[in-house]
Amino acid sequence: MQVILRAFVWDFAYDKMSSTFRRLREEWGLDGISFVVTNPAKLLLLPNSEQARFQYADEGAVCFCPERSWYADLNLMPISSKLCGMRNPLKEVTEKAKELGLRVSAVVSCCYNPSLGKEHPELTVQNALGDRILHLLCPANPTVREFLVRMVGDLVTNYPLDAVELEDLGYLNLTKLDSLTTDLLLPPAADFLLSRCFCEYCCQIAVERGIEIERVRFFVQTELEQFFIAPTELSLSPLEWDFWEGLVEGEARKVIHMRMDIVSSLLSLLVEQISHKHDKRAHVEGHLLPASLWQVGIDRQRLRELADVVEVDAKEVAPERLPPYLLLNRQVLGEQAELWVRLHPSERFIPNKQAFLAQVRACKEQKVDGVVIVGYGSLRKQNWDWIREAITLLKS
Ligand SMILES: [Zn+2]
Repeated sequence: MQVILRAFVWDFAYDKMSSTFRRLREEWGLDGISFVVTNPAKLLLLPNSEQARFQYADEGAVCFCPERSWYADLNLMPISSKLCGMRNPLKEVTEKAKELGLRVSAVVSCCYNPSLGKEHPELTVQNALGDRILHLLCPANPTVREFLVRMVGDLVTNYPLDAVELEDLGYLNLTKLDSLTTDLLLPPAADFLLSRCFCEYCCQIAVERGIEIERVRFFVQTELEQFFIAPTELSLSPLEWDFWEGLVEGEARKVIHMRMDIVSSLLSLLVEQISHKHDKRAHVEGHLLPASLWQVGIDRQRLRELADVVEVDAKEVAPERLPPYLLLNRQVLGEQAELWVRLHPSERFIPNKQAFLAQVRACKEQKVDGVVIVGYGSLRKQNWDWIREAITLLKS
């Protein structure tokens, strides 16, 4: 059982890193640290960071200095965070952590990127109404695909990584953005309809496959126009494959399969770069309910074939509900991919320490292959005790 901690590079100060990493390995018993590469929000409140407690970050920017040659003739590079200053924080933390015997991985957000989307709207999702969703990159866009492959190439060659954790891969939804302000109640189906991509690349692939994509787009447009007047039956219906695939006289089924092929082939390119060319492990974000993965365009079969590890997030899940979810995932993944669980040791997501440790016990009893504990500088110090107890439990 591997136990790793997920942290921001901003949690650590250069002059304290050695002693901190030594303590995390020797006293806490951690196997490794995974560093979040992309700033997830505009403001990070890190009460126990060794640096500033308030980090005004550039959402979507990265905590490393991209090596230019990787992005030559692409006309696109990862945007380096202003918080980096003249340094390369990812280099400093990964090299130091590795030197002190910890395993190291990088968390890469694939299709969620507000900074890049604002600078390059042509890379983003364009919905049935023609609106660009600037925080979501379209996985069918050839430049997006090439960019992601090169970025993971840059990371696996220039940093001493053992693994890359791919997150937000696929066709994401509008509400991925936490700070969305609206007076609309957006049920999952409405969110889904609002976020579907009909950009030139998605449409071109559909036409090549003989899909009546304009008919599908017009159907979604009409639904959305109705939804903006009053909630519709479709906008309130559950997102279940059996029902949705039958829409537009079965054309919807063809679109759903097309999206899964697009995302699977992108995942295959990324895995080629991470695992086959550079012999690192590819972790891919899955879902506690594998039956919902089609919604973002992930094909369960291809996922288990391609990923070394599938990570599922147990945020806000009651401990007694965790075992059946894990069992489901194990059935889907078989022995082909490892199953890891992300746990959040914070009162924001789980009522108290007892409930958190019950989640931890569920992971141990279900014999998951690894646990990622999310948070370090962003947590209260009392929650660090939860982590230490969890590690003791998992390693016993
Ligand atoms: Zn598209």
